[in-house]
Amino acid sequence: MSADSIIIFDTTLRDGEQSPGCSMTTDEKLEVAQALVELGVDVIEAGFPIASPGDFEAVQSIARKFGSQTTVCGLARCRVEDVDRAADALKDAQNARLHVFLATSAIHREHKLKMGKDEIVARAVEMVERAVDRIPDVEFSPEDAARTELDFLCEVTEKAIDAGATTINIPDTVGYSTPSHFYNIIRHLKDNVPNIDRAVISTHCHNDLGLAVANSLAAVEAGARQIECTINGLGERAGNASLEEVVMAIRTRRDHYGVETGINSPKLFPTSRLVSRITGMTVQRNKAIVGQNAFAHEAGIHQHGVLQERSTYEIMRPEDVGYVGTNLVLGKHSGRHAFRDRIKELGYELDDDAFQTIFDEFIALADKKKDVYDSDIVALIDSQTGEFTEQFQLDRFHTLAGTDVLPTATLEMHNTVTDHVIRDAATGDGPVDAIFRALERGVGFEAVLEDYQVRSVSGGKDAQGEVMVRIKVGDDVYHGNGVNTDIVAASARAYLKALNRAAADRQRLSGNAGD
Ligand SMILES: [Zn+2]
Repeated sequence: MSADSIIIFDTTLRDGEQSPGCSMTTDEKLEVAQALVELGVDVIEAGFPIASPGDFEAVQSIARKFGSQTTVCGLARCRVEDVDRAADALKDAQNARLHVFLATSAIHREHKLKMGKDEIVARAVEMVERAVDRIPDVEFSPEDAARTELDFLCEVTEKAIDAGATTINIPDTVGYSTPSHFYNIIRHLKDNVPNIDRAVISTHCHNDLGLAVANSLAAVEAGARQIECTINGLGERAGNASLEEVVMAIRTRRDHYGVETGINSPKLFPTSRLVSRITGMTVQRNKAIVGQNAFAHEAGIHQHGVLQERSTYEIMRPEDVGYVGTNLVLGKHSGRHAFRDRIKELGYELDDDAFQTIFDEFIALADKKKDVYDSDIVALIDSQTGEFTEQFQLDRFHTLAGTDVLPTATLEMHNTVTDHVIRDAATGDGPVDAIFRALERGVGFEAVLEDYQVRSVSGGKDAQGEVMVRIKVGDDVYHGNGVNTDIVAASARAYLKALNRAAADRQRLSGNAGD
């Protein structure tokens, strides 16, 4: 590896998946992994195999399918059964990495582990050696490193490298560090650990103070050569360093950092949308790089400047991150060819069946709506592709609402497994509430609505509405989205999708890792 390359280690499927309500099925994880491979990440941390049979299966599937195209990593605590389970999940990958972690800070040693310094070092060495026996590429993380005494951090690091670790990851587990503090930690390791040149130094920063990206970049200045990050900054609490921000900062300010990544940056936006759709975690409009407004110039003086010379107000070109704006593109007379070309330009590959479905929806939309924008097409595709088999399908519905009437919904749906036709009705506080209750009666179980959001996909009174819902069934949280020019129809679609996830996935166990 040349000195000026930064290894991008994506942990969306492990750390990101741990955020509340973001758990994914194995099929969804495979879809995200495929996108990460196309994006060009160097390492995919696919999960925590000991956490549950589902986690094990996901890591194993990703290792088998993508282990020749990228490095697939599994996480383990410093325990025999964890290390063995992770090694088993990874054994079919051509390029596998085993990531072991053990907390080193005083507060974790005393309260969580109840272990002394010597015990910690001995355990770390023993488990790194055990891991190296099975998988030669081993990463060691001293959990809560940012709050660990520097001399002890140096000692653990040196011993872990001697035991065979080739990557030393320095996590700011609780998001406590600041850029100059984090720089000094990395610099101290570089200057004081005698065998440090035998390992790559990595960062894993949490965003509790909004400093995860800044801390990761400070670490790079101090000599770190791997950054652990997630798409959209997903992760526990306030999340992790966001991959798209780290990558574009390094790229845009190459003059300053003097390093590069292997990321195929036009895939950033499509990957962000995919992760948002699958996890149900929407991206804030003004989010750097992948927010809807990231490239919008509304103020007249800015617009004027950009029209004359883009670089007056733009430090990055929208196309460099795969941004899709609200360009007016097509009308109902555009035809199949033009539509197919546009879909390709937007970065999608659809098979013939999927293309036909989207094309039919496009024609129906163009009938209802005067102008069809790129963002409309993206919303149609995102709400259709990558779907699991849905047990219940809504065939038609009718709602009644207004003043001085009892809001009512009637519907007809069918069970695709049994072919059973269901007709039902319900009342509610309004048409959306009524259709939600009717759908619950149709599927035969109740849910609690935790979050409901509507946004318009483009401008204009006839814009499509995109609805995102998050529901709770028992202790489990599910999400769904739907797009339609009628927001009651979009709401029904989103709610049924979430109910279908619950119906398909009532048994799923969820795992939890500490780092
Ligand atoms: Zn973490």
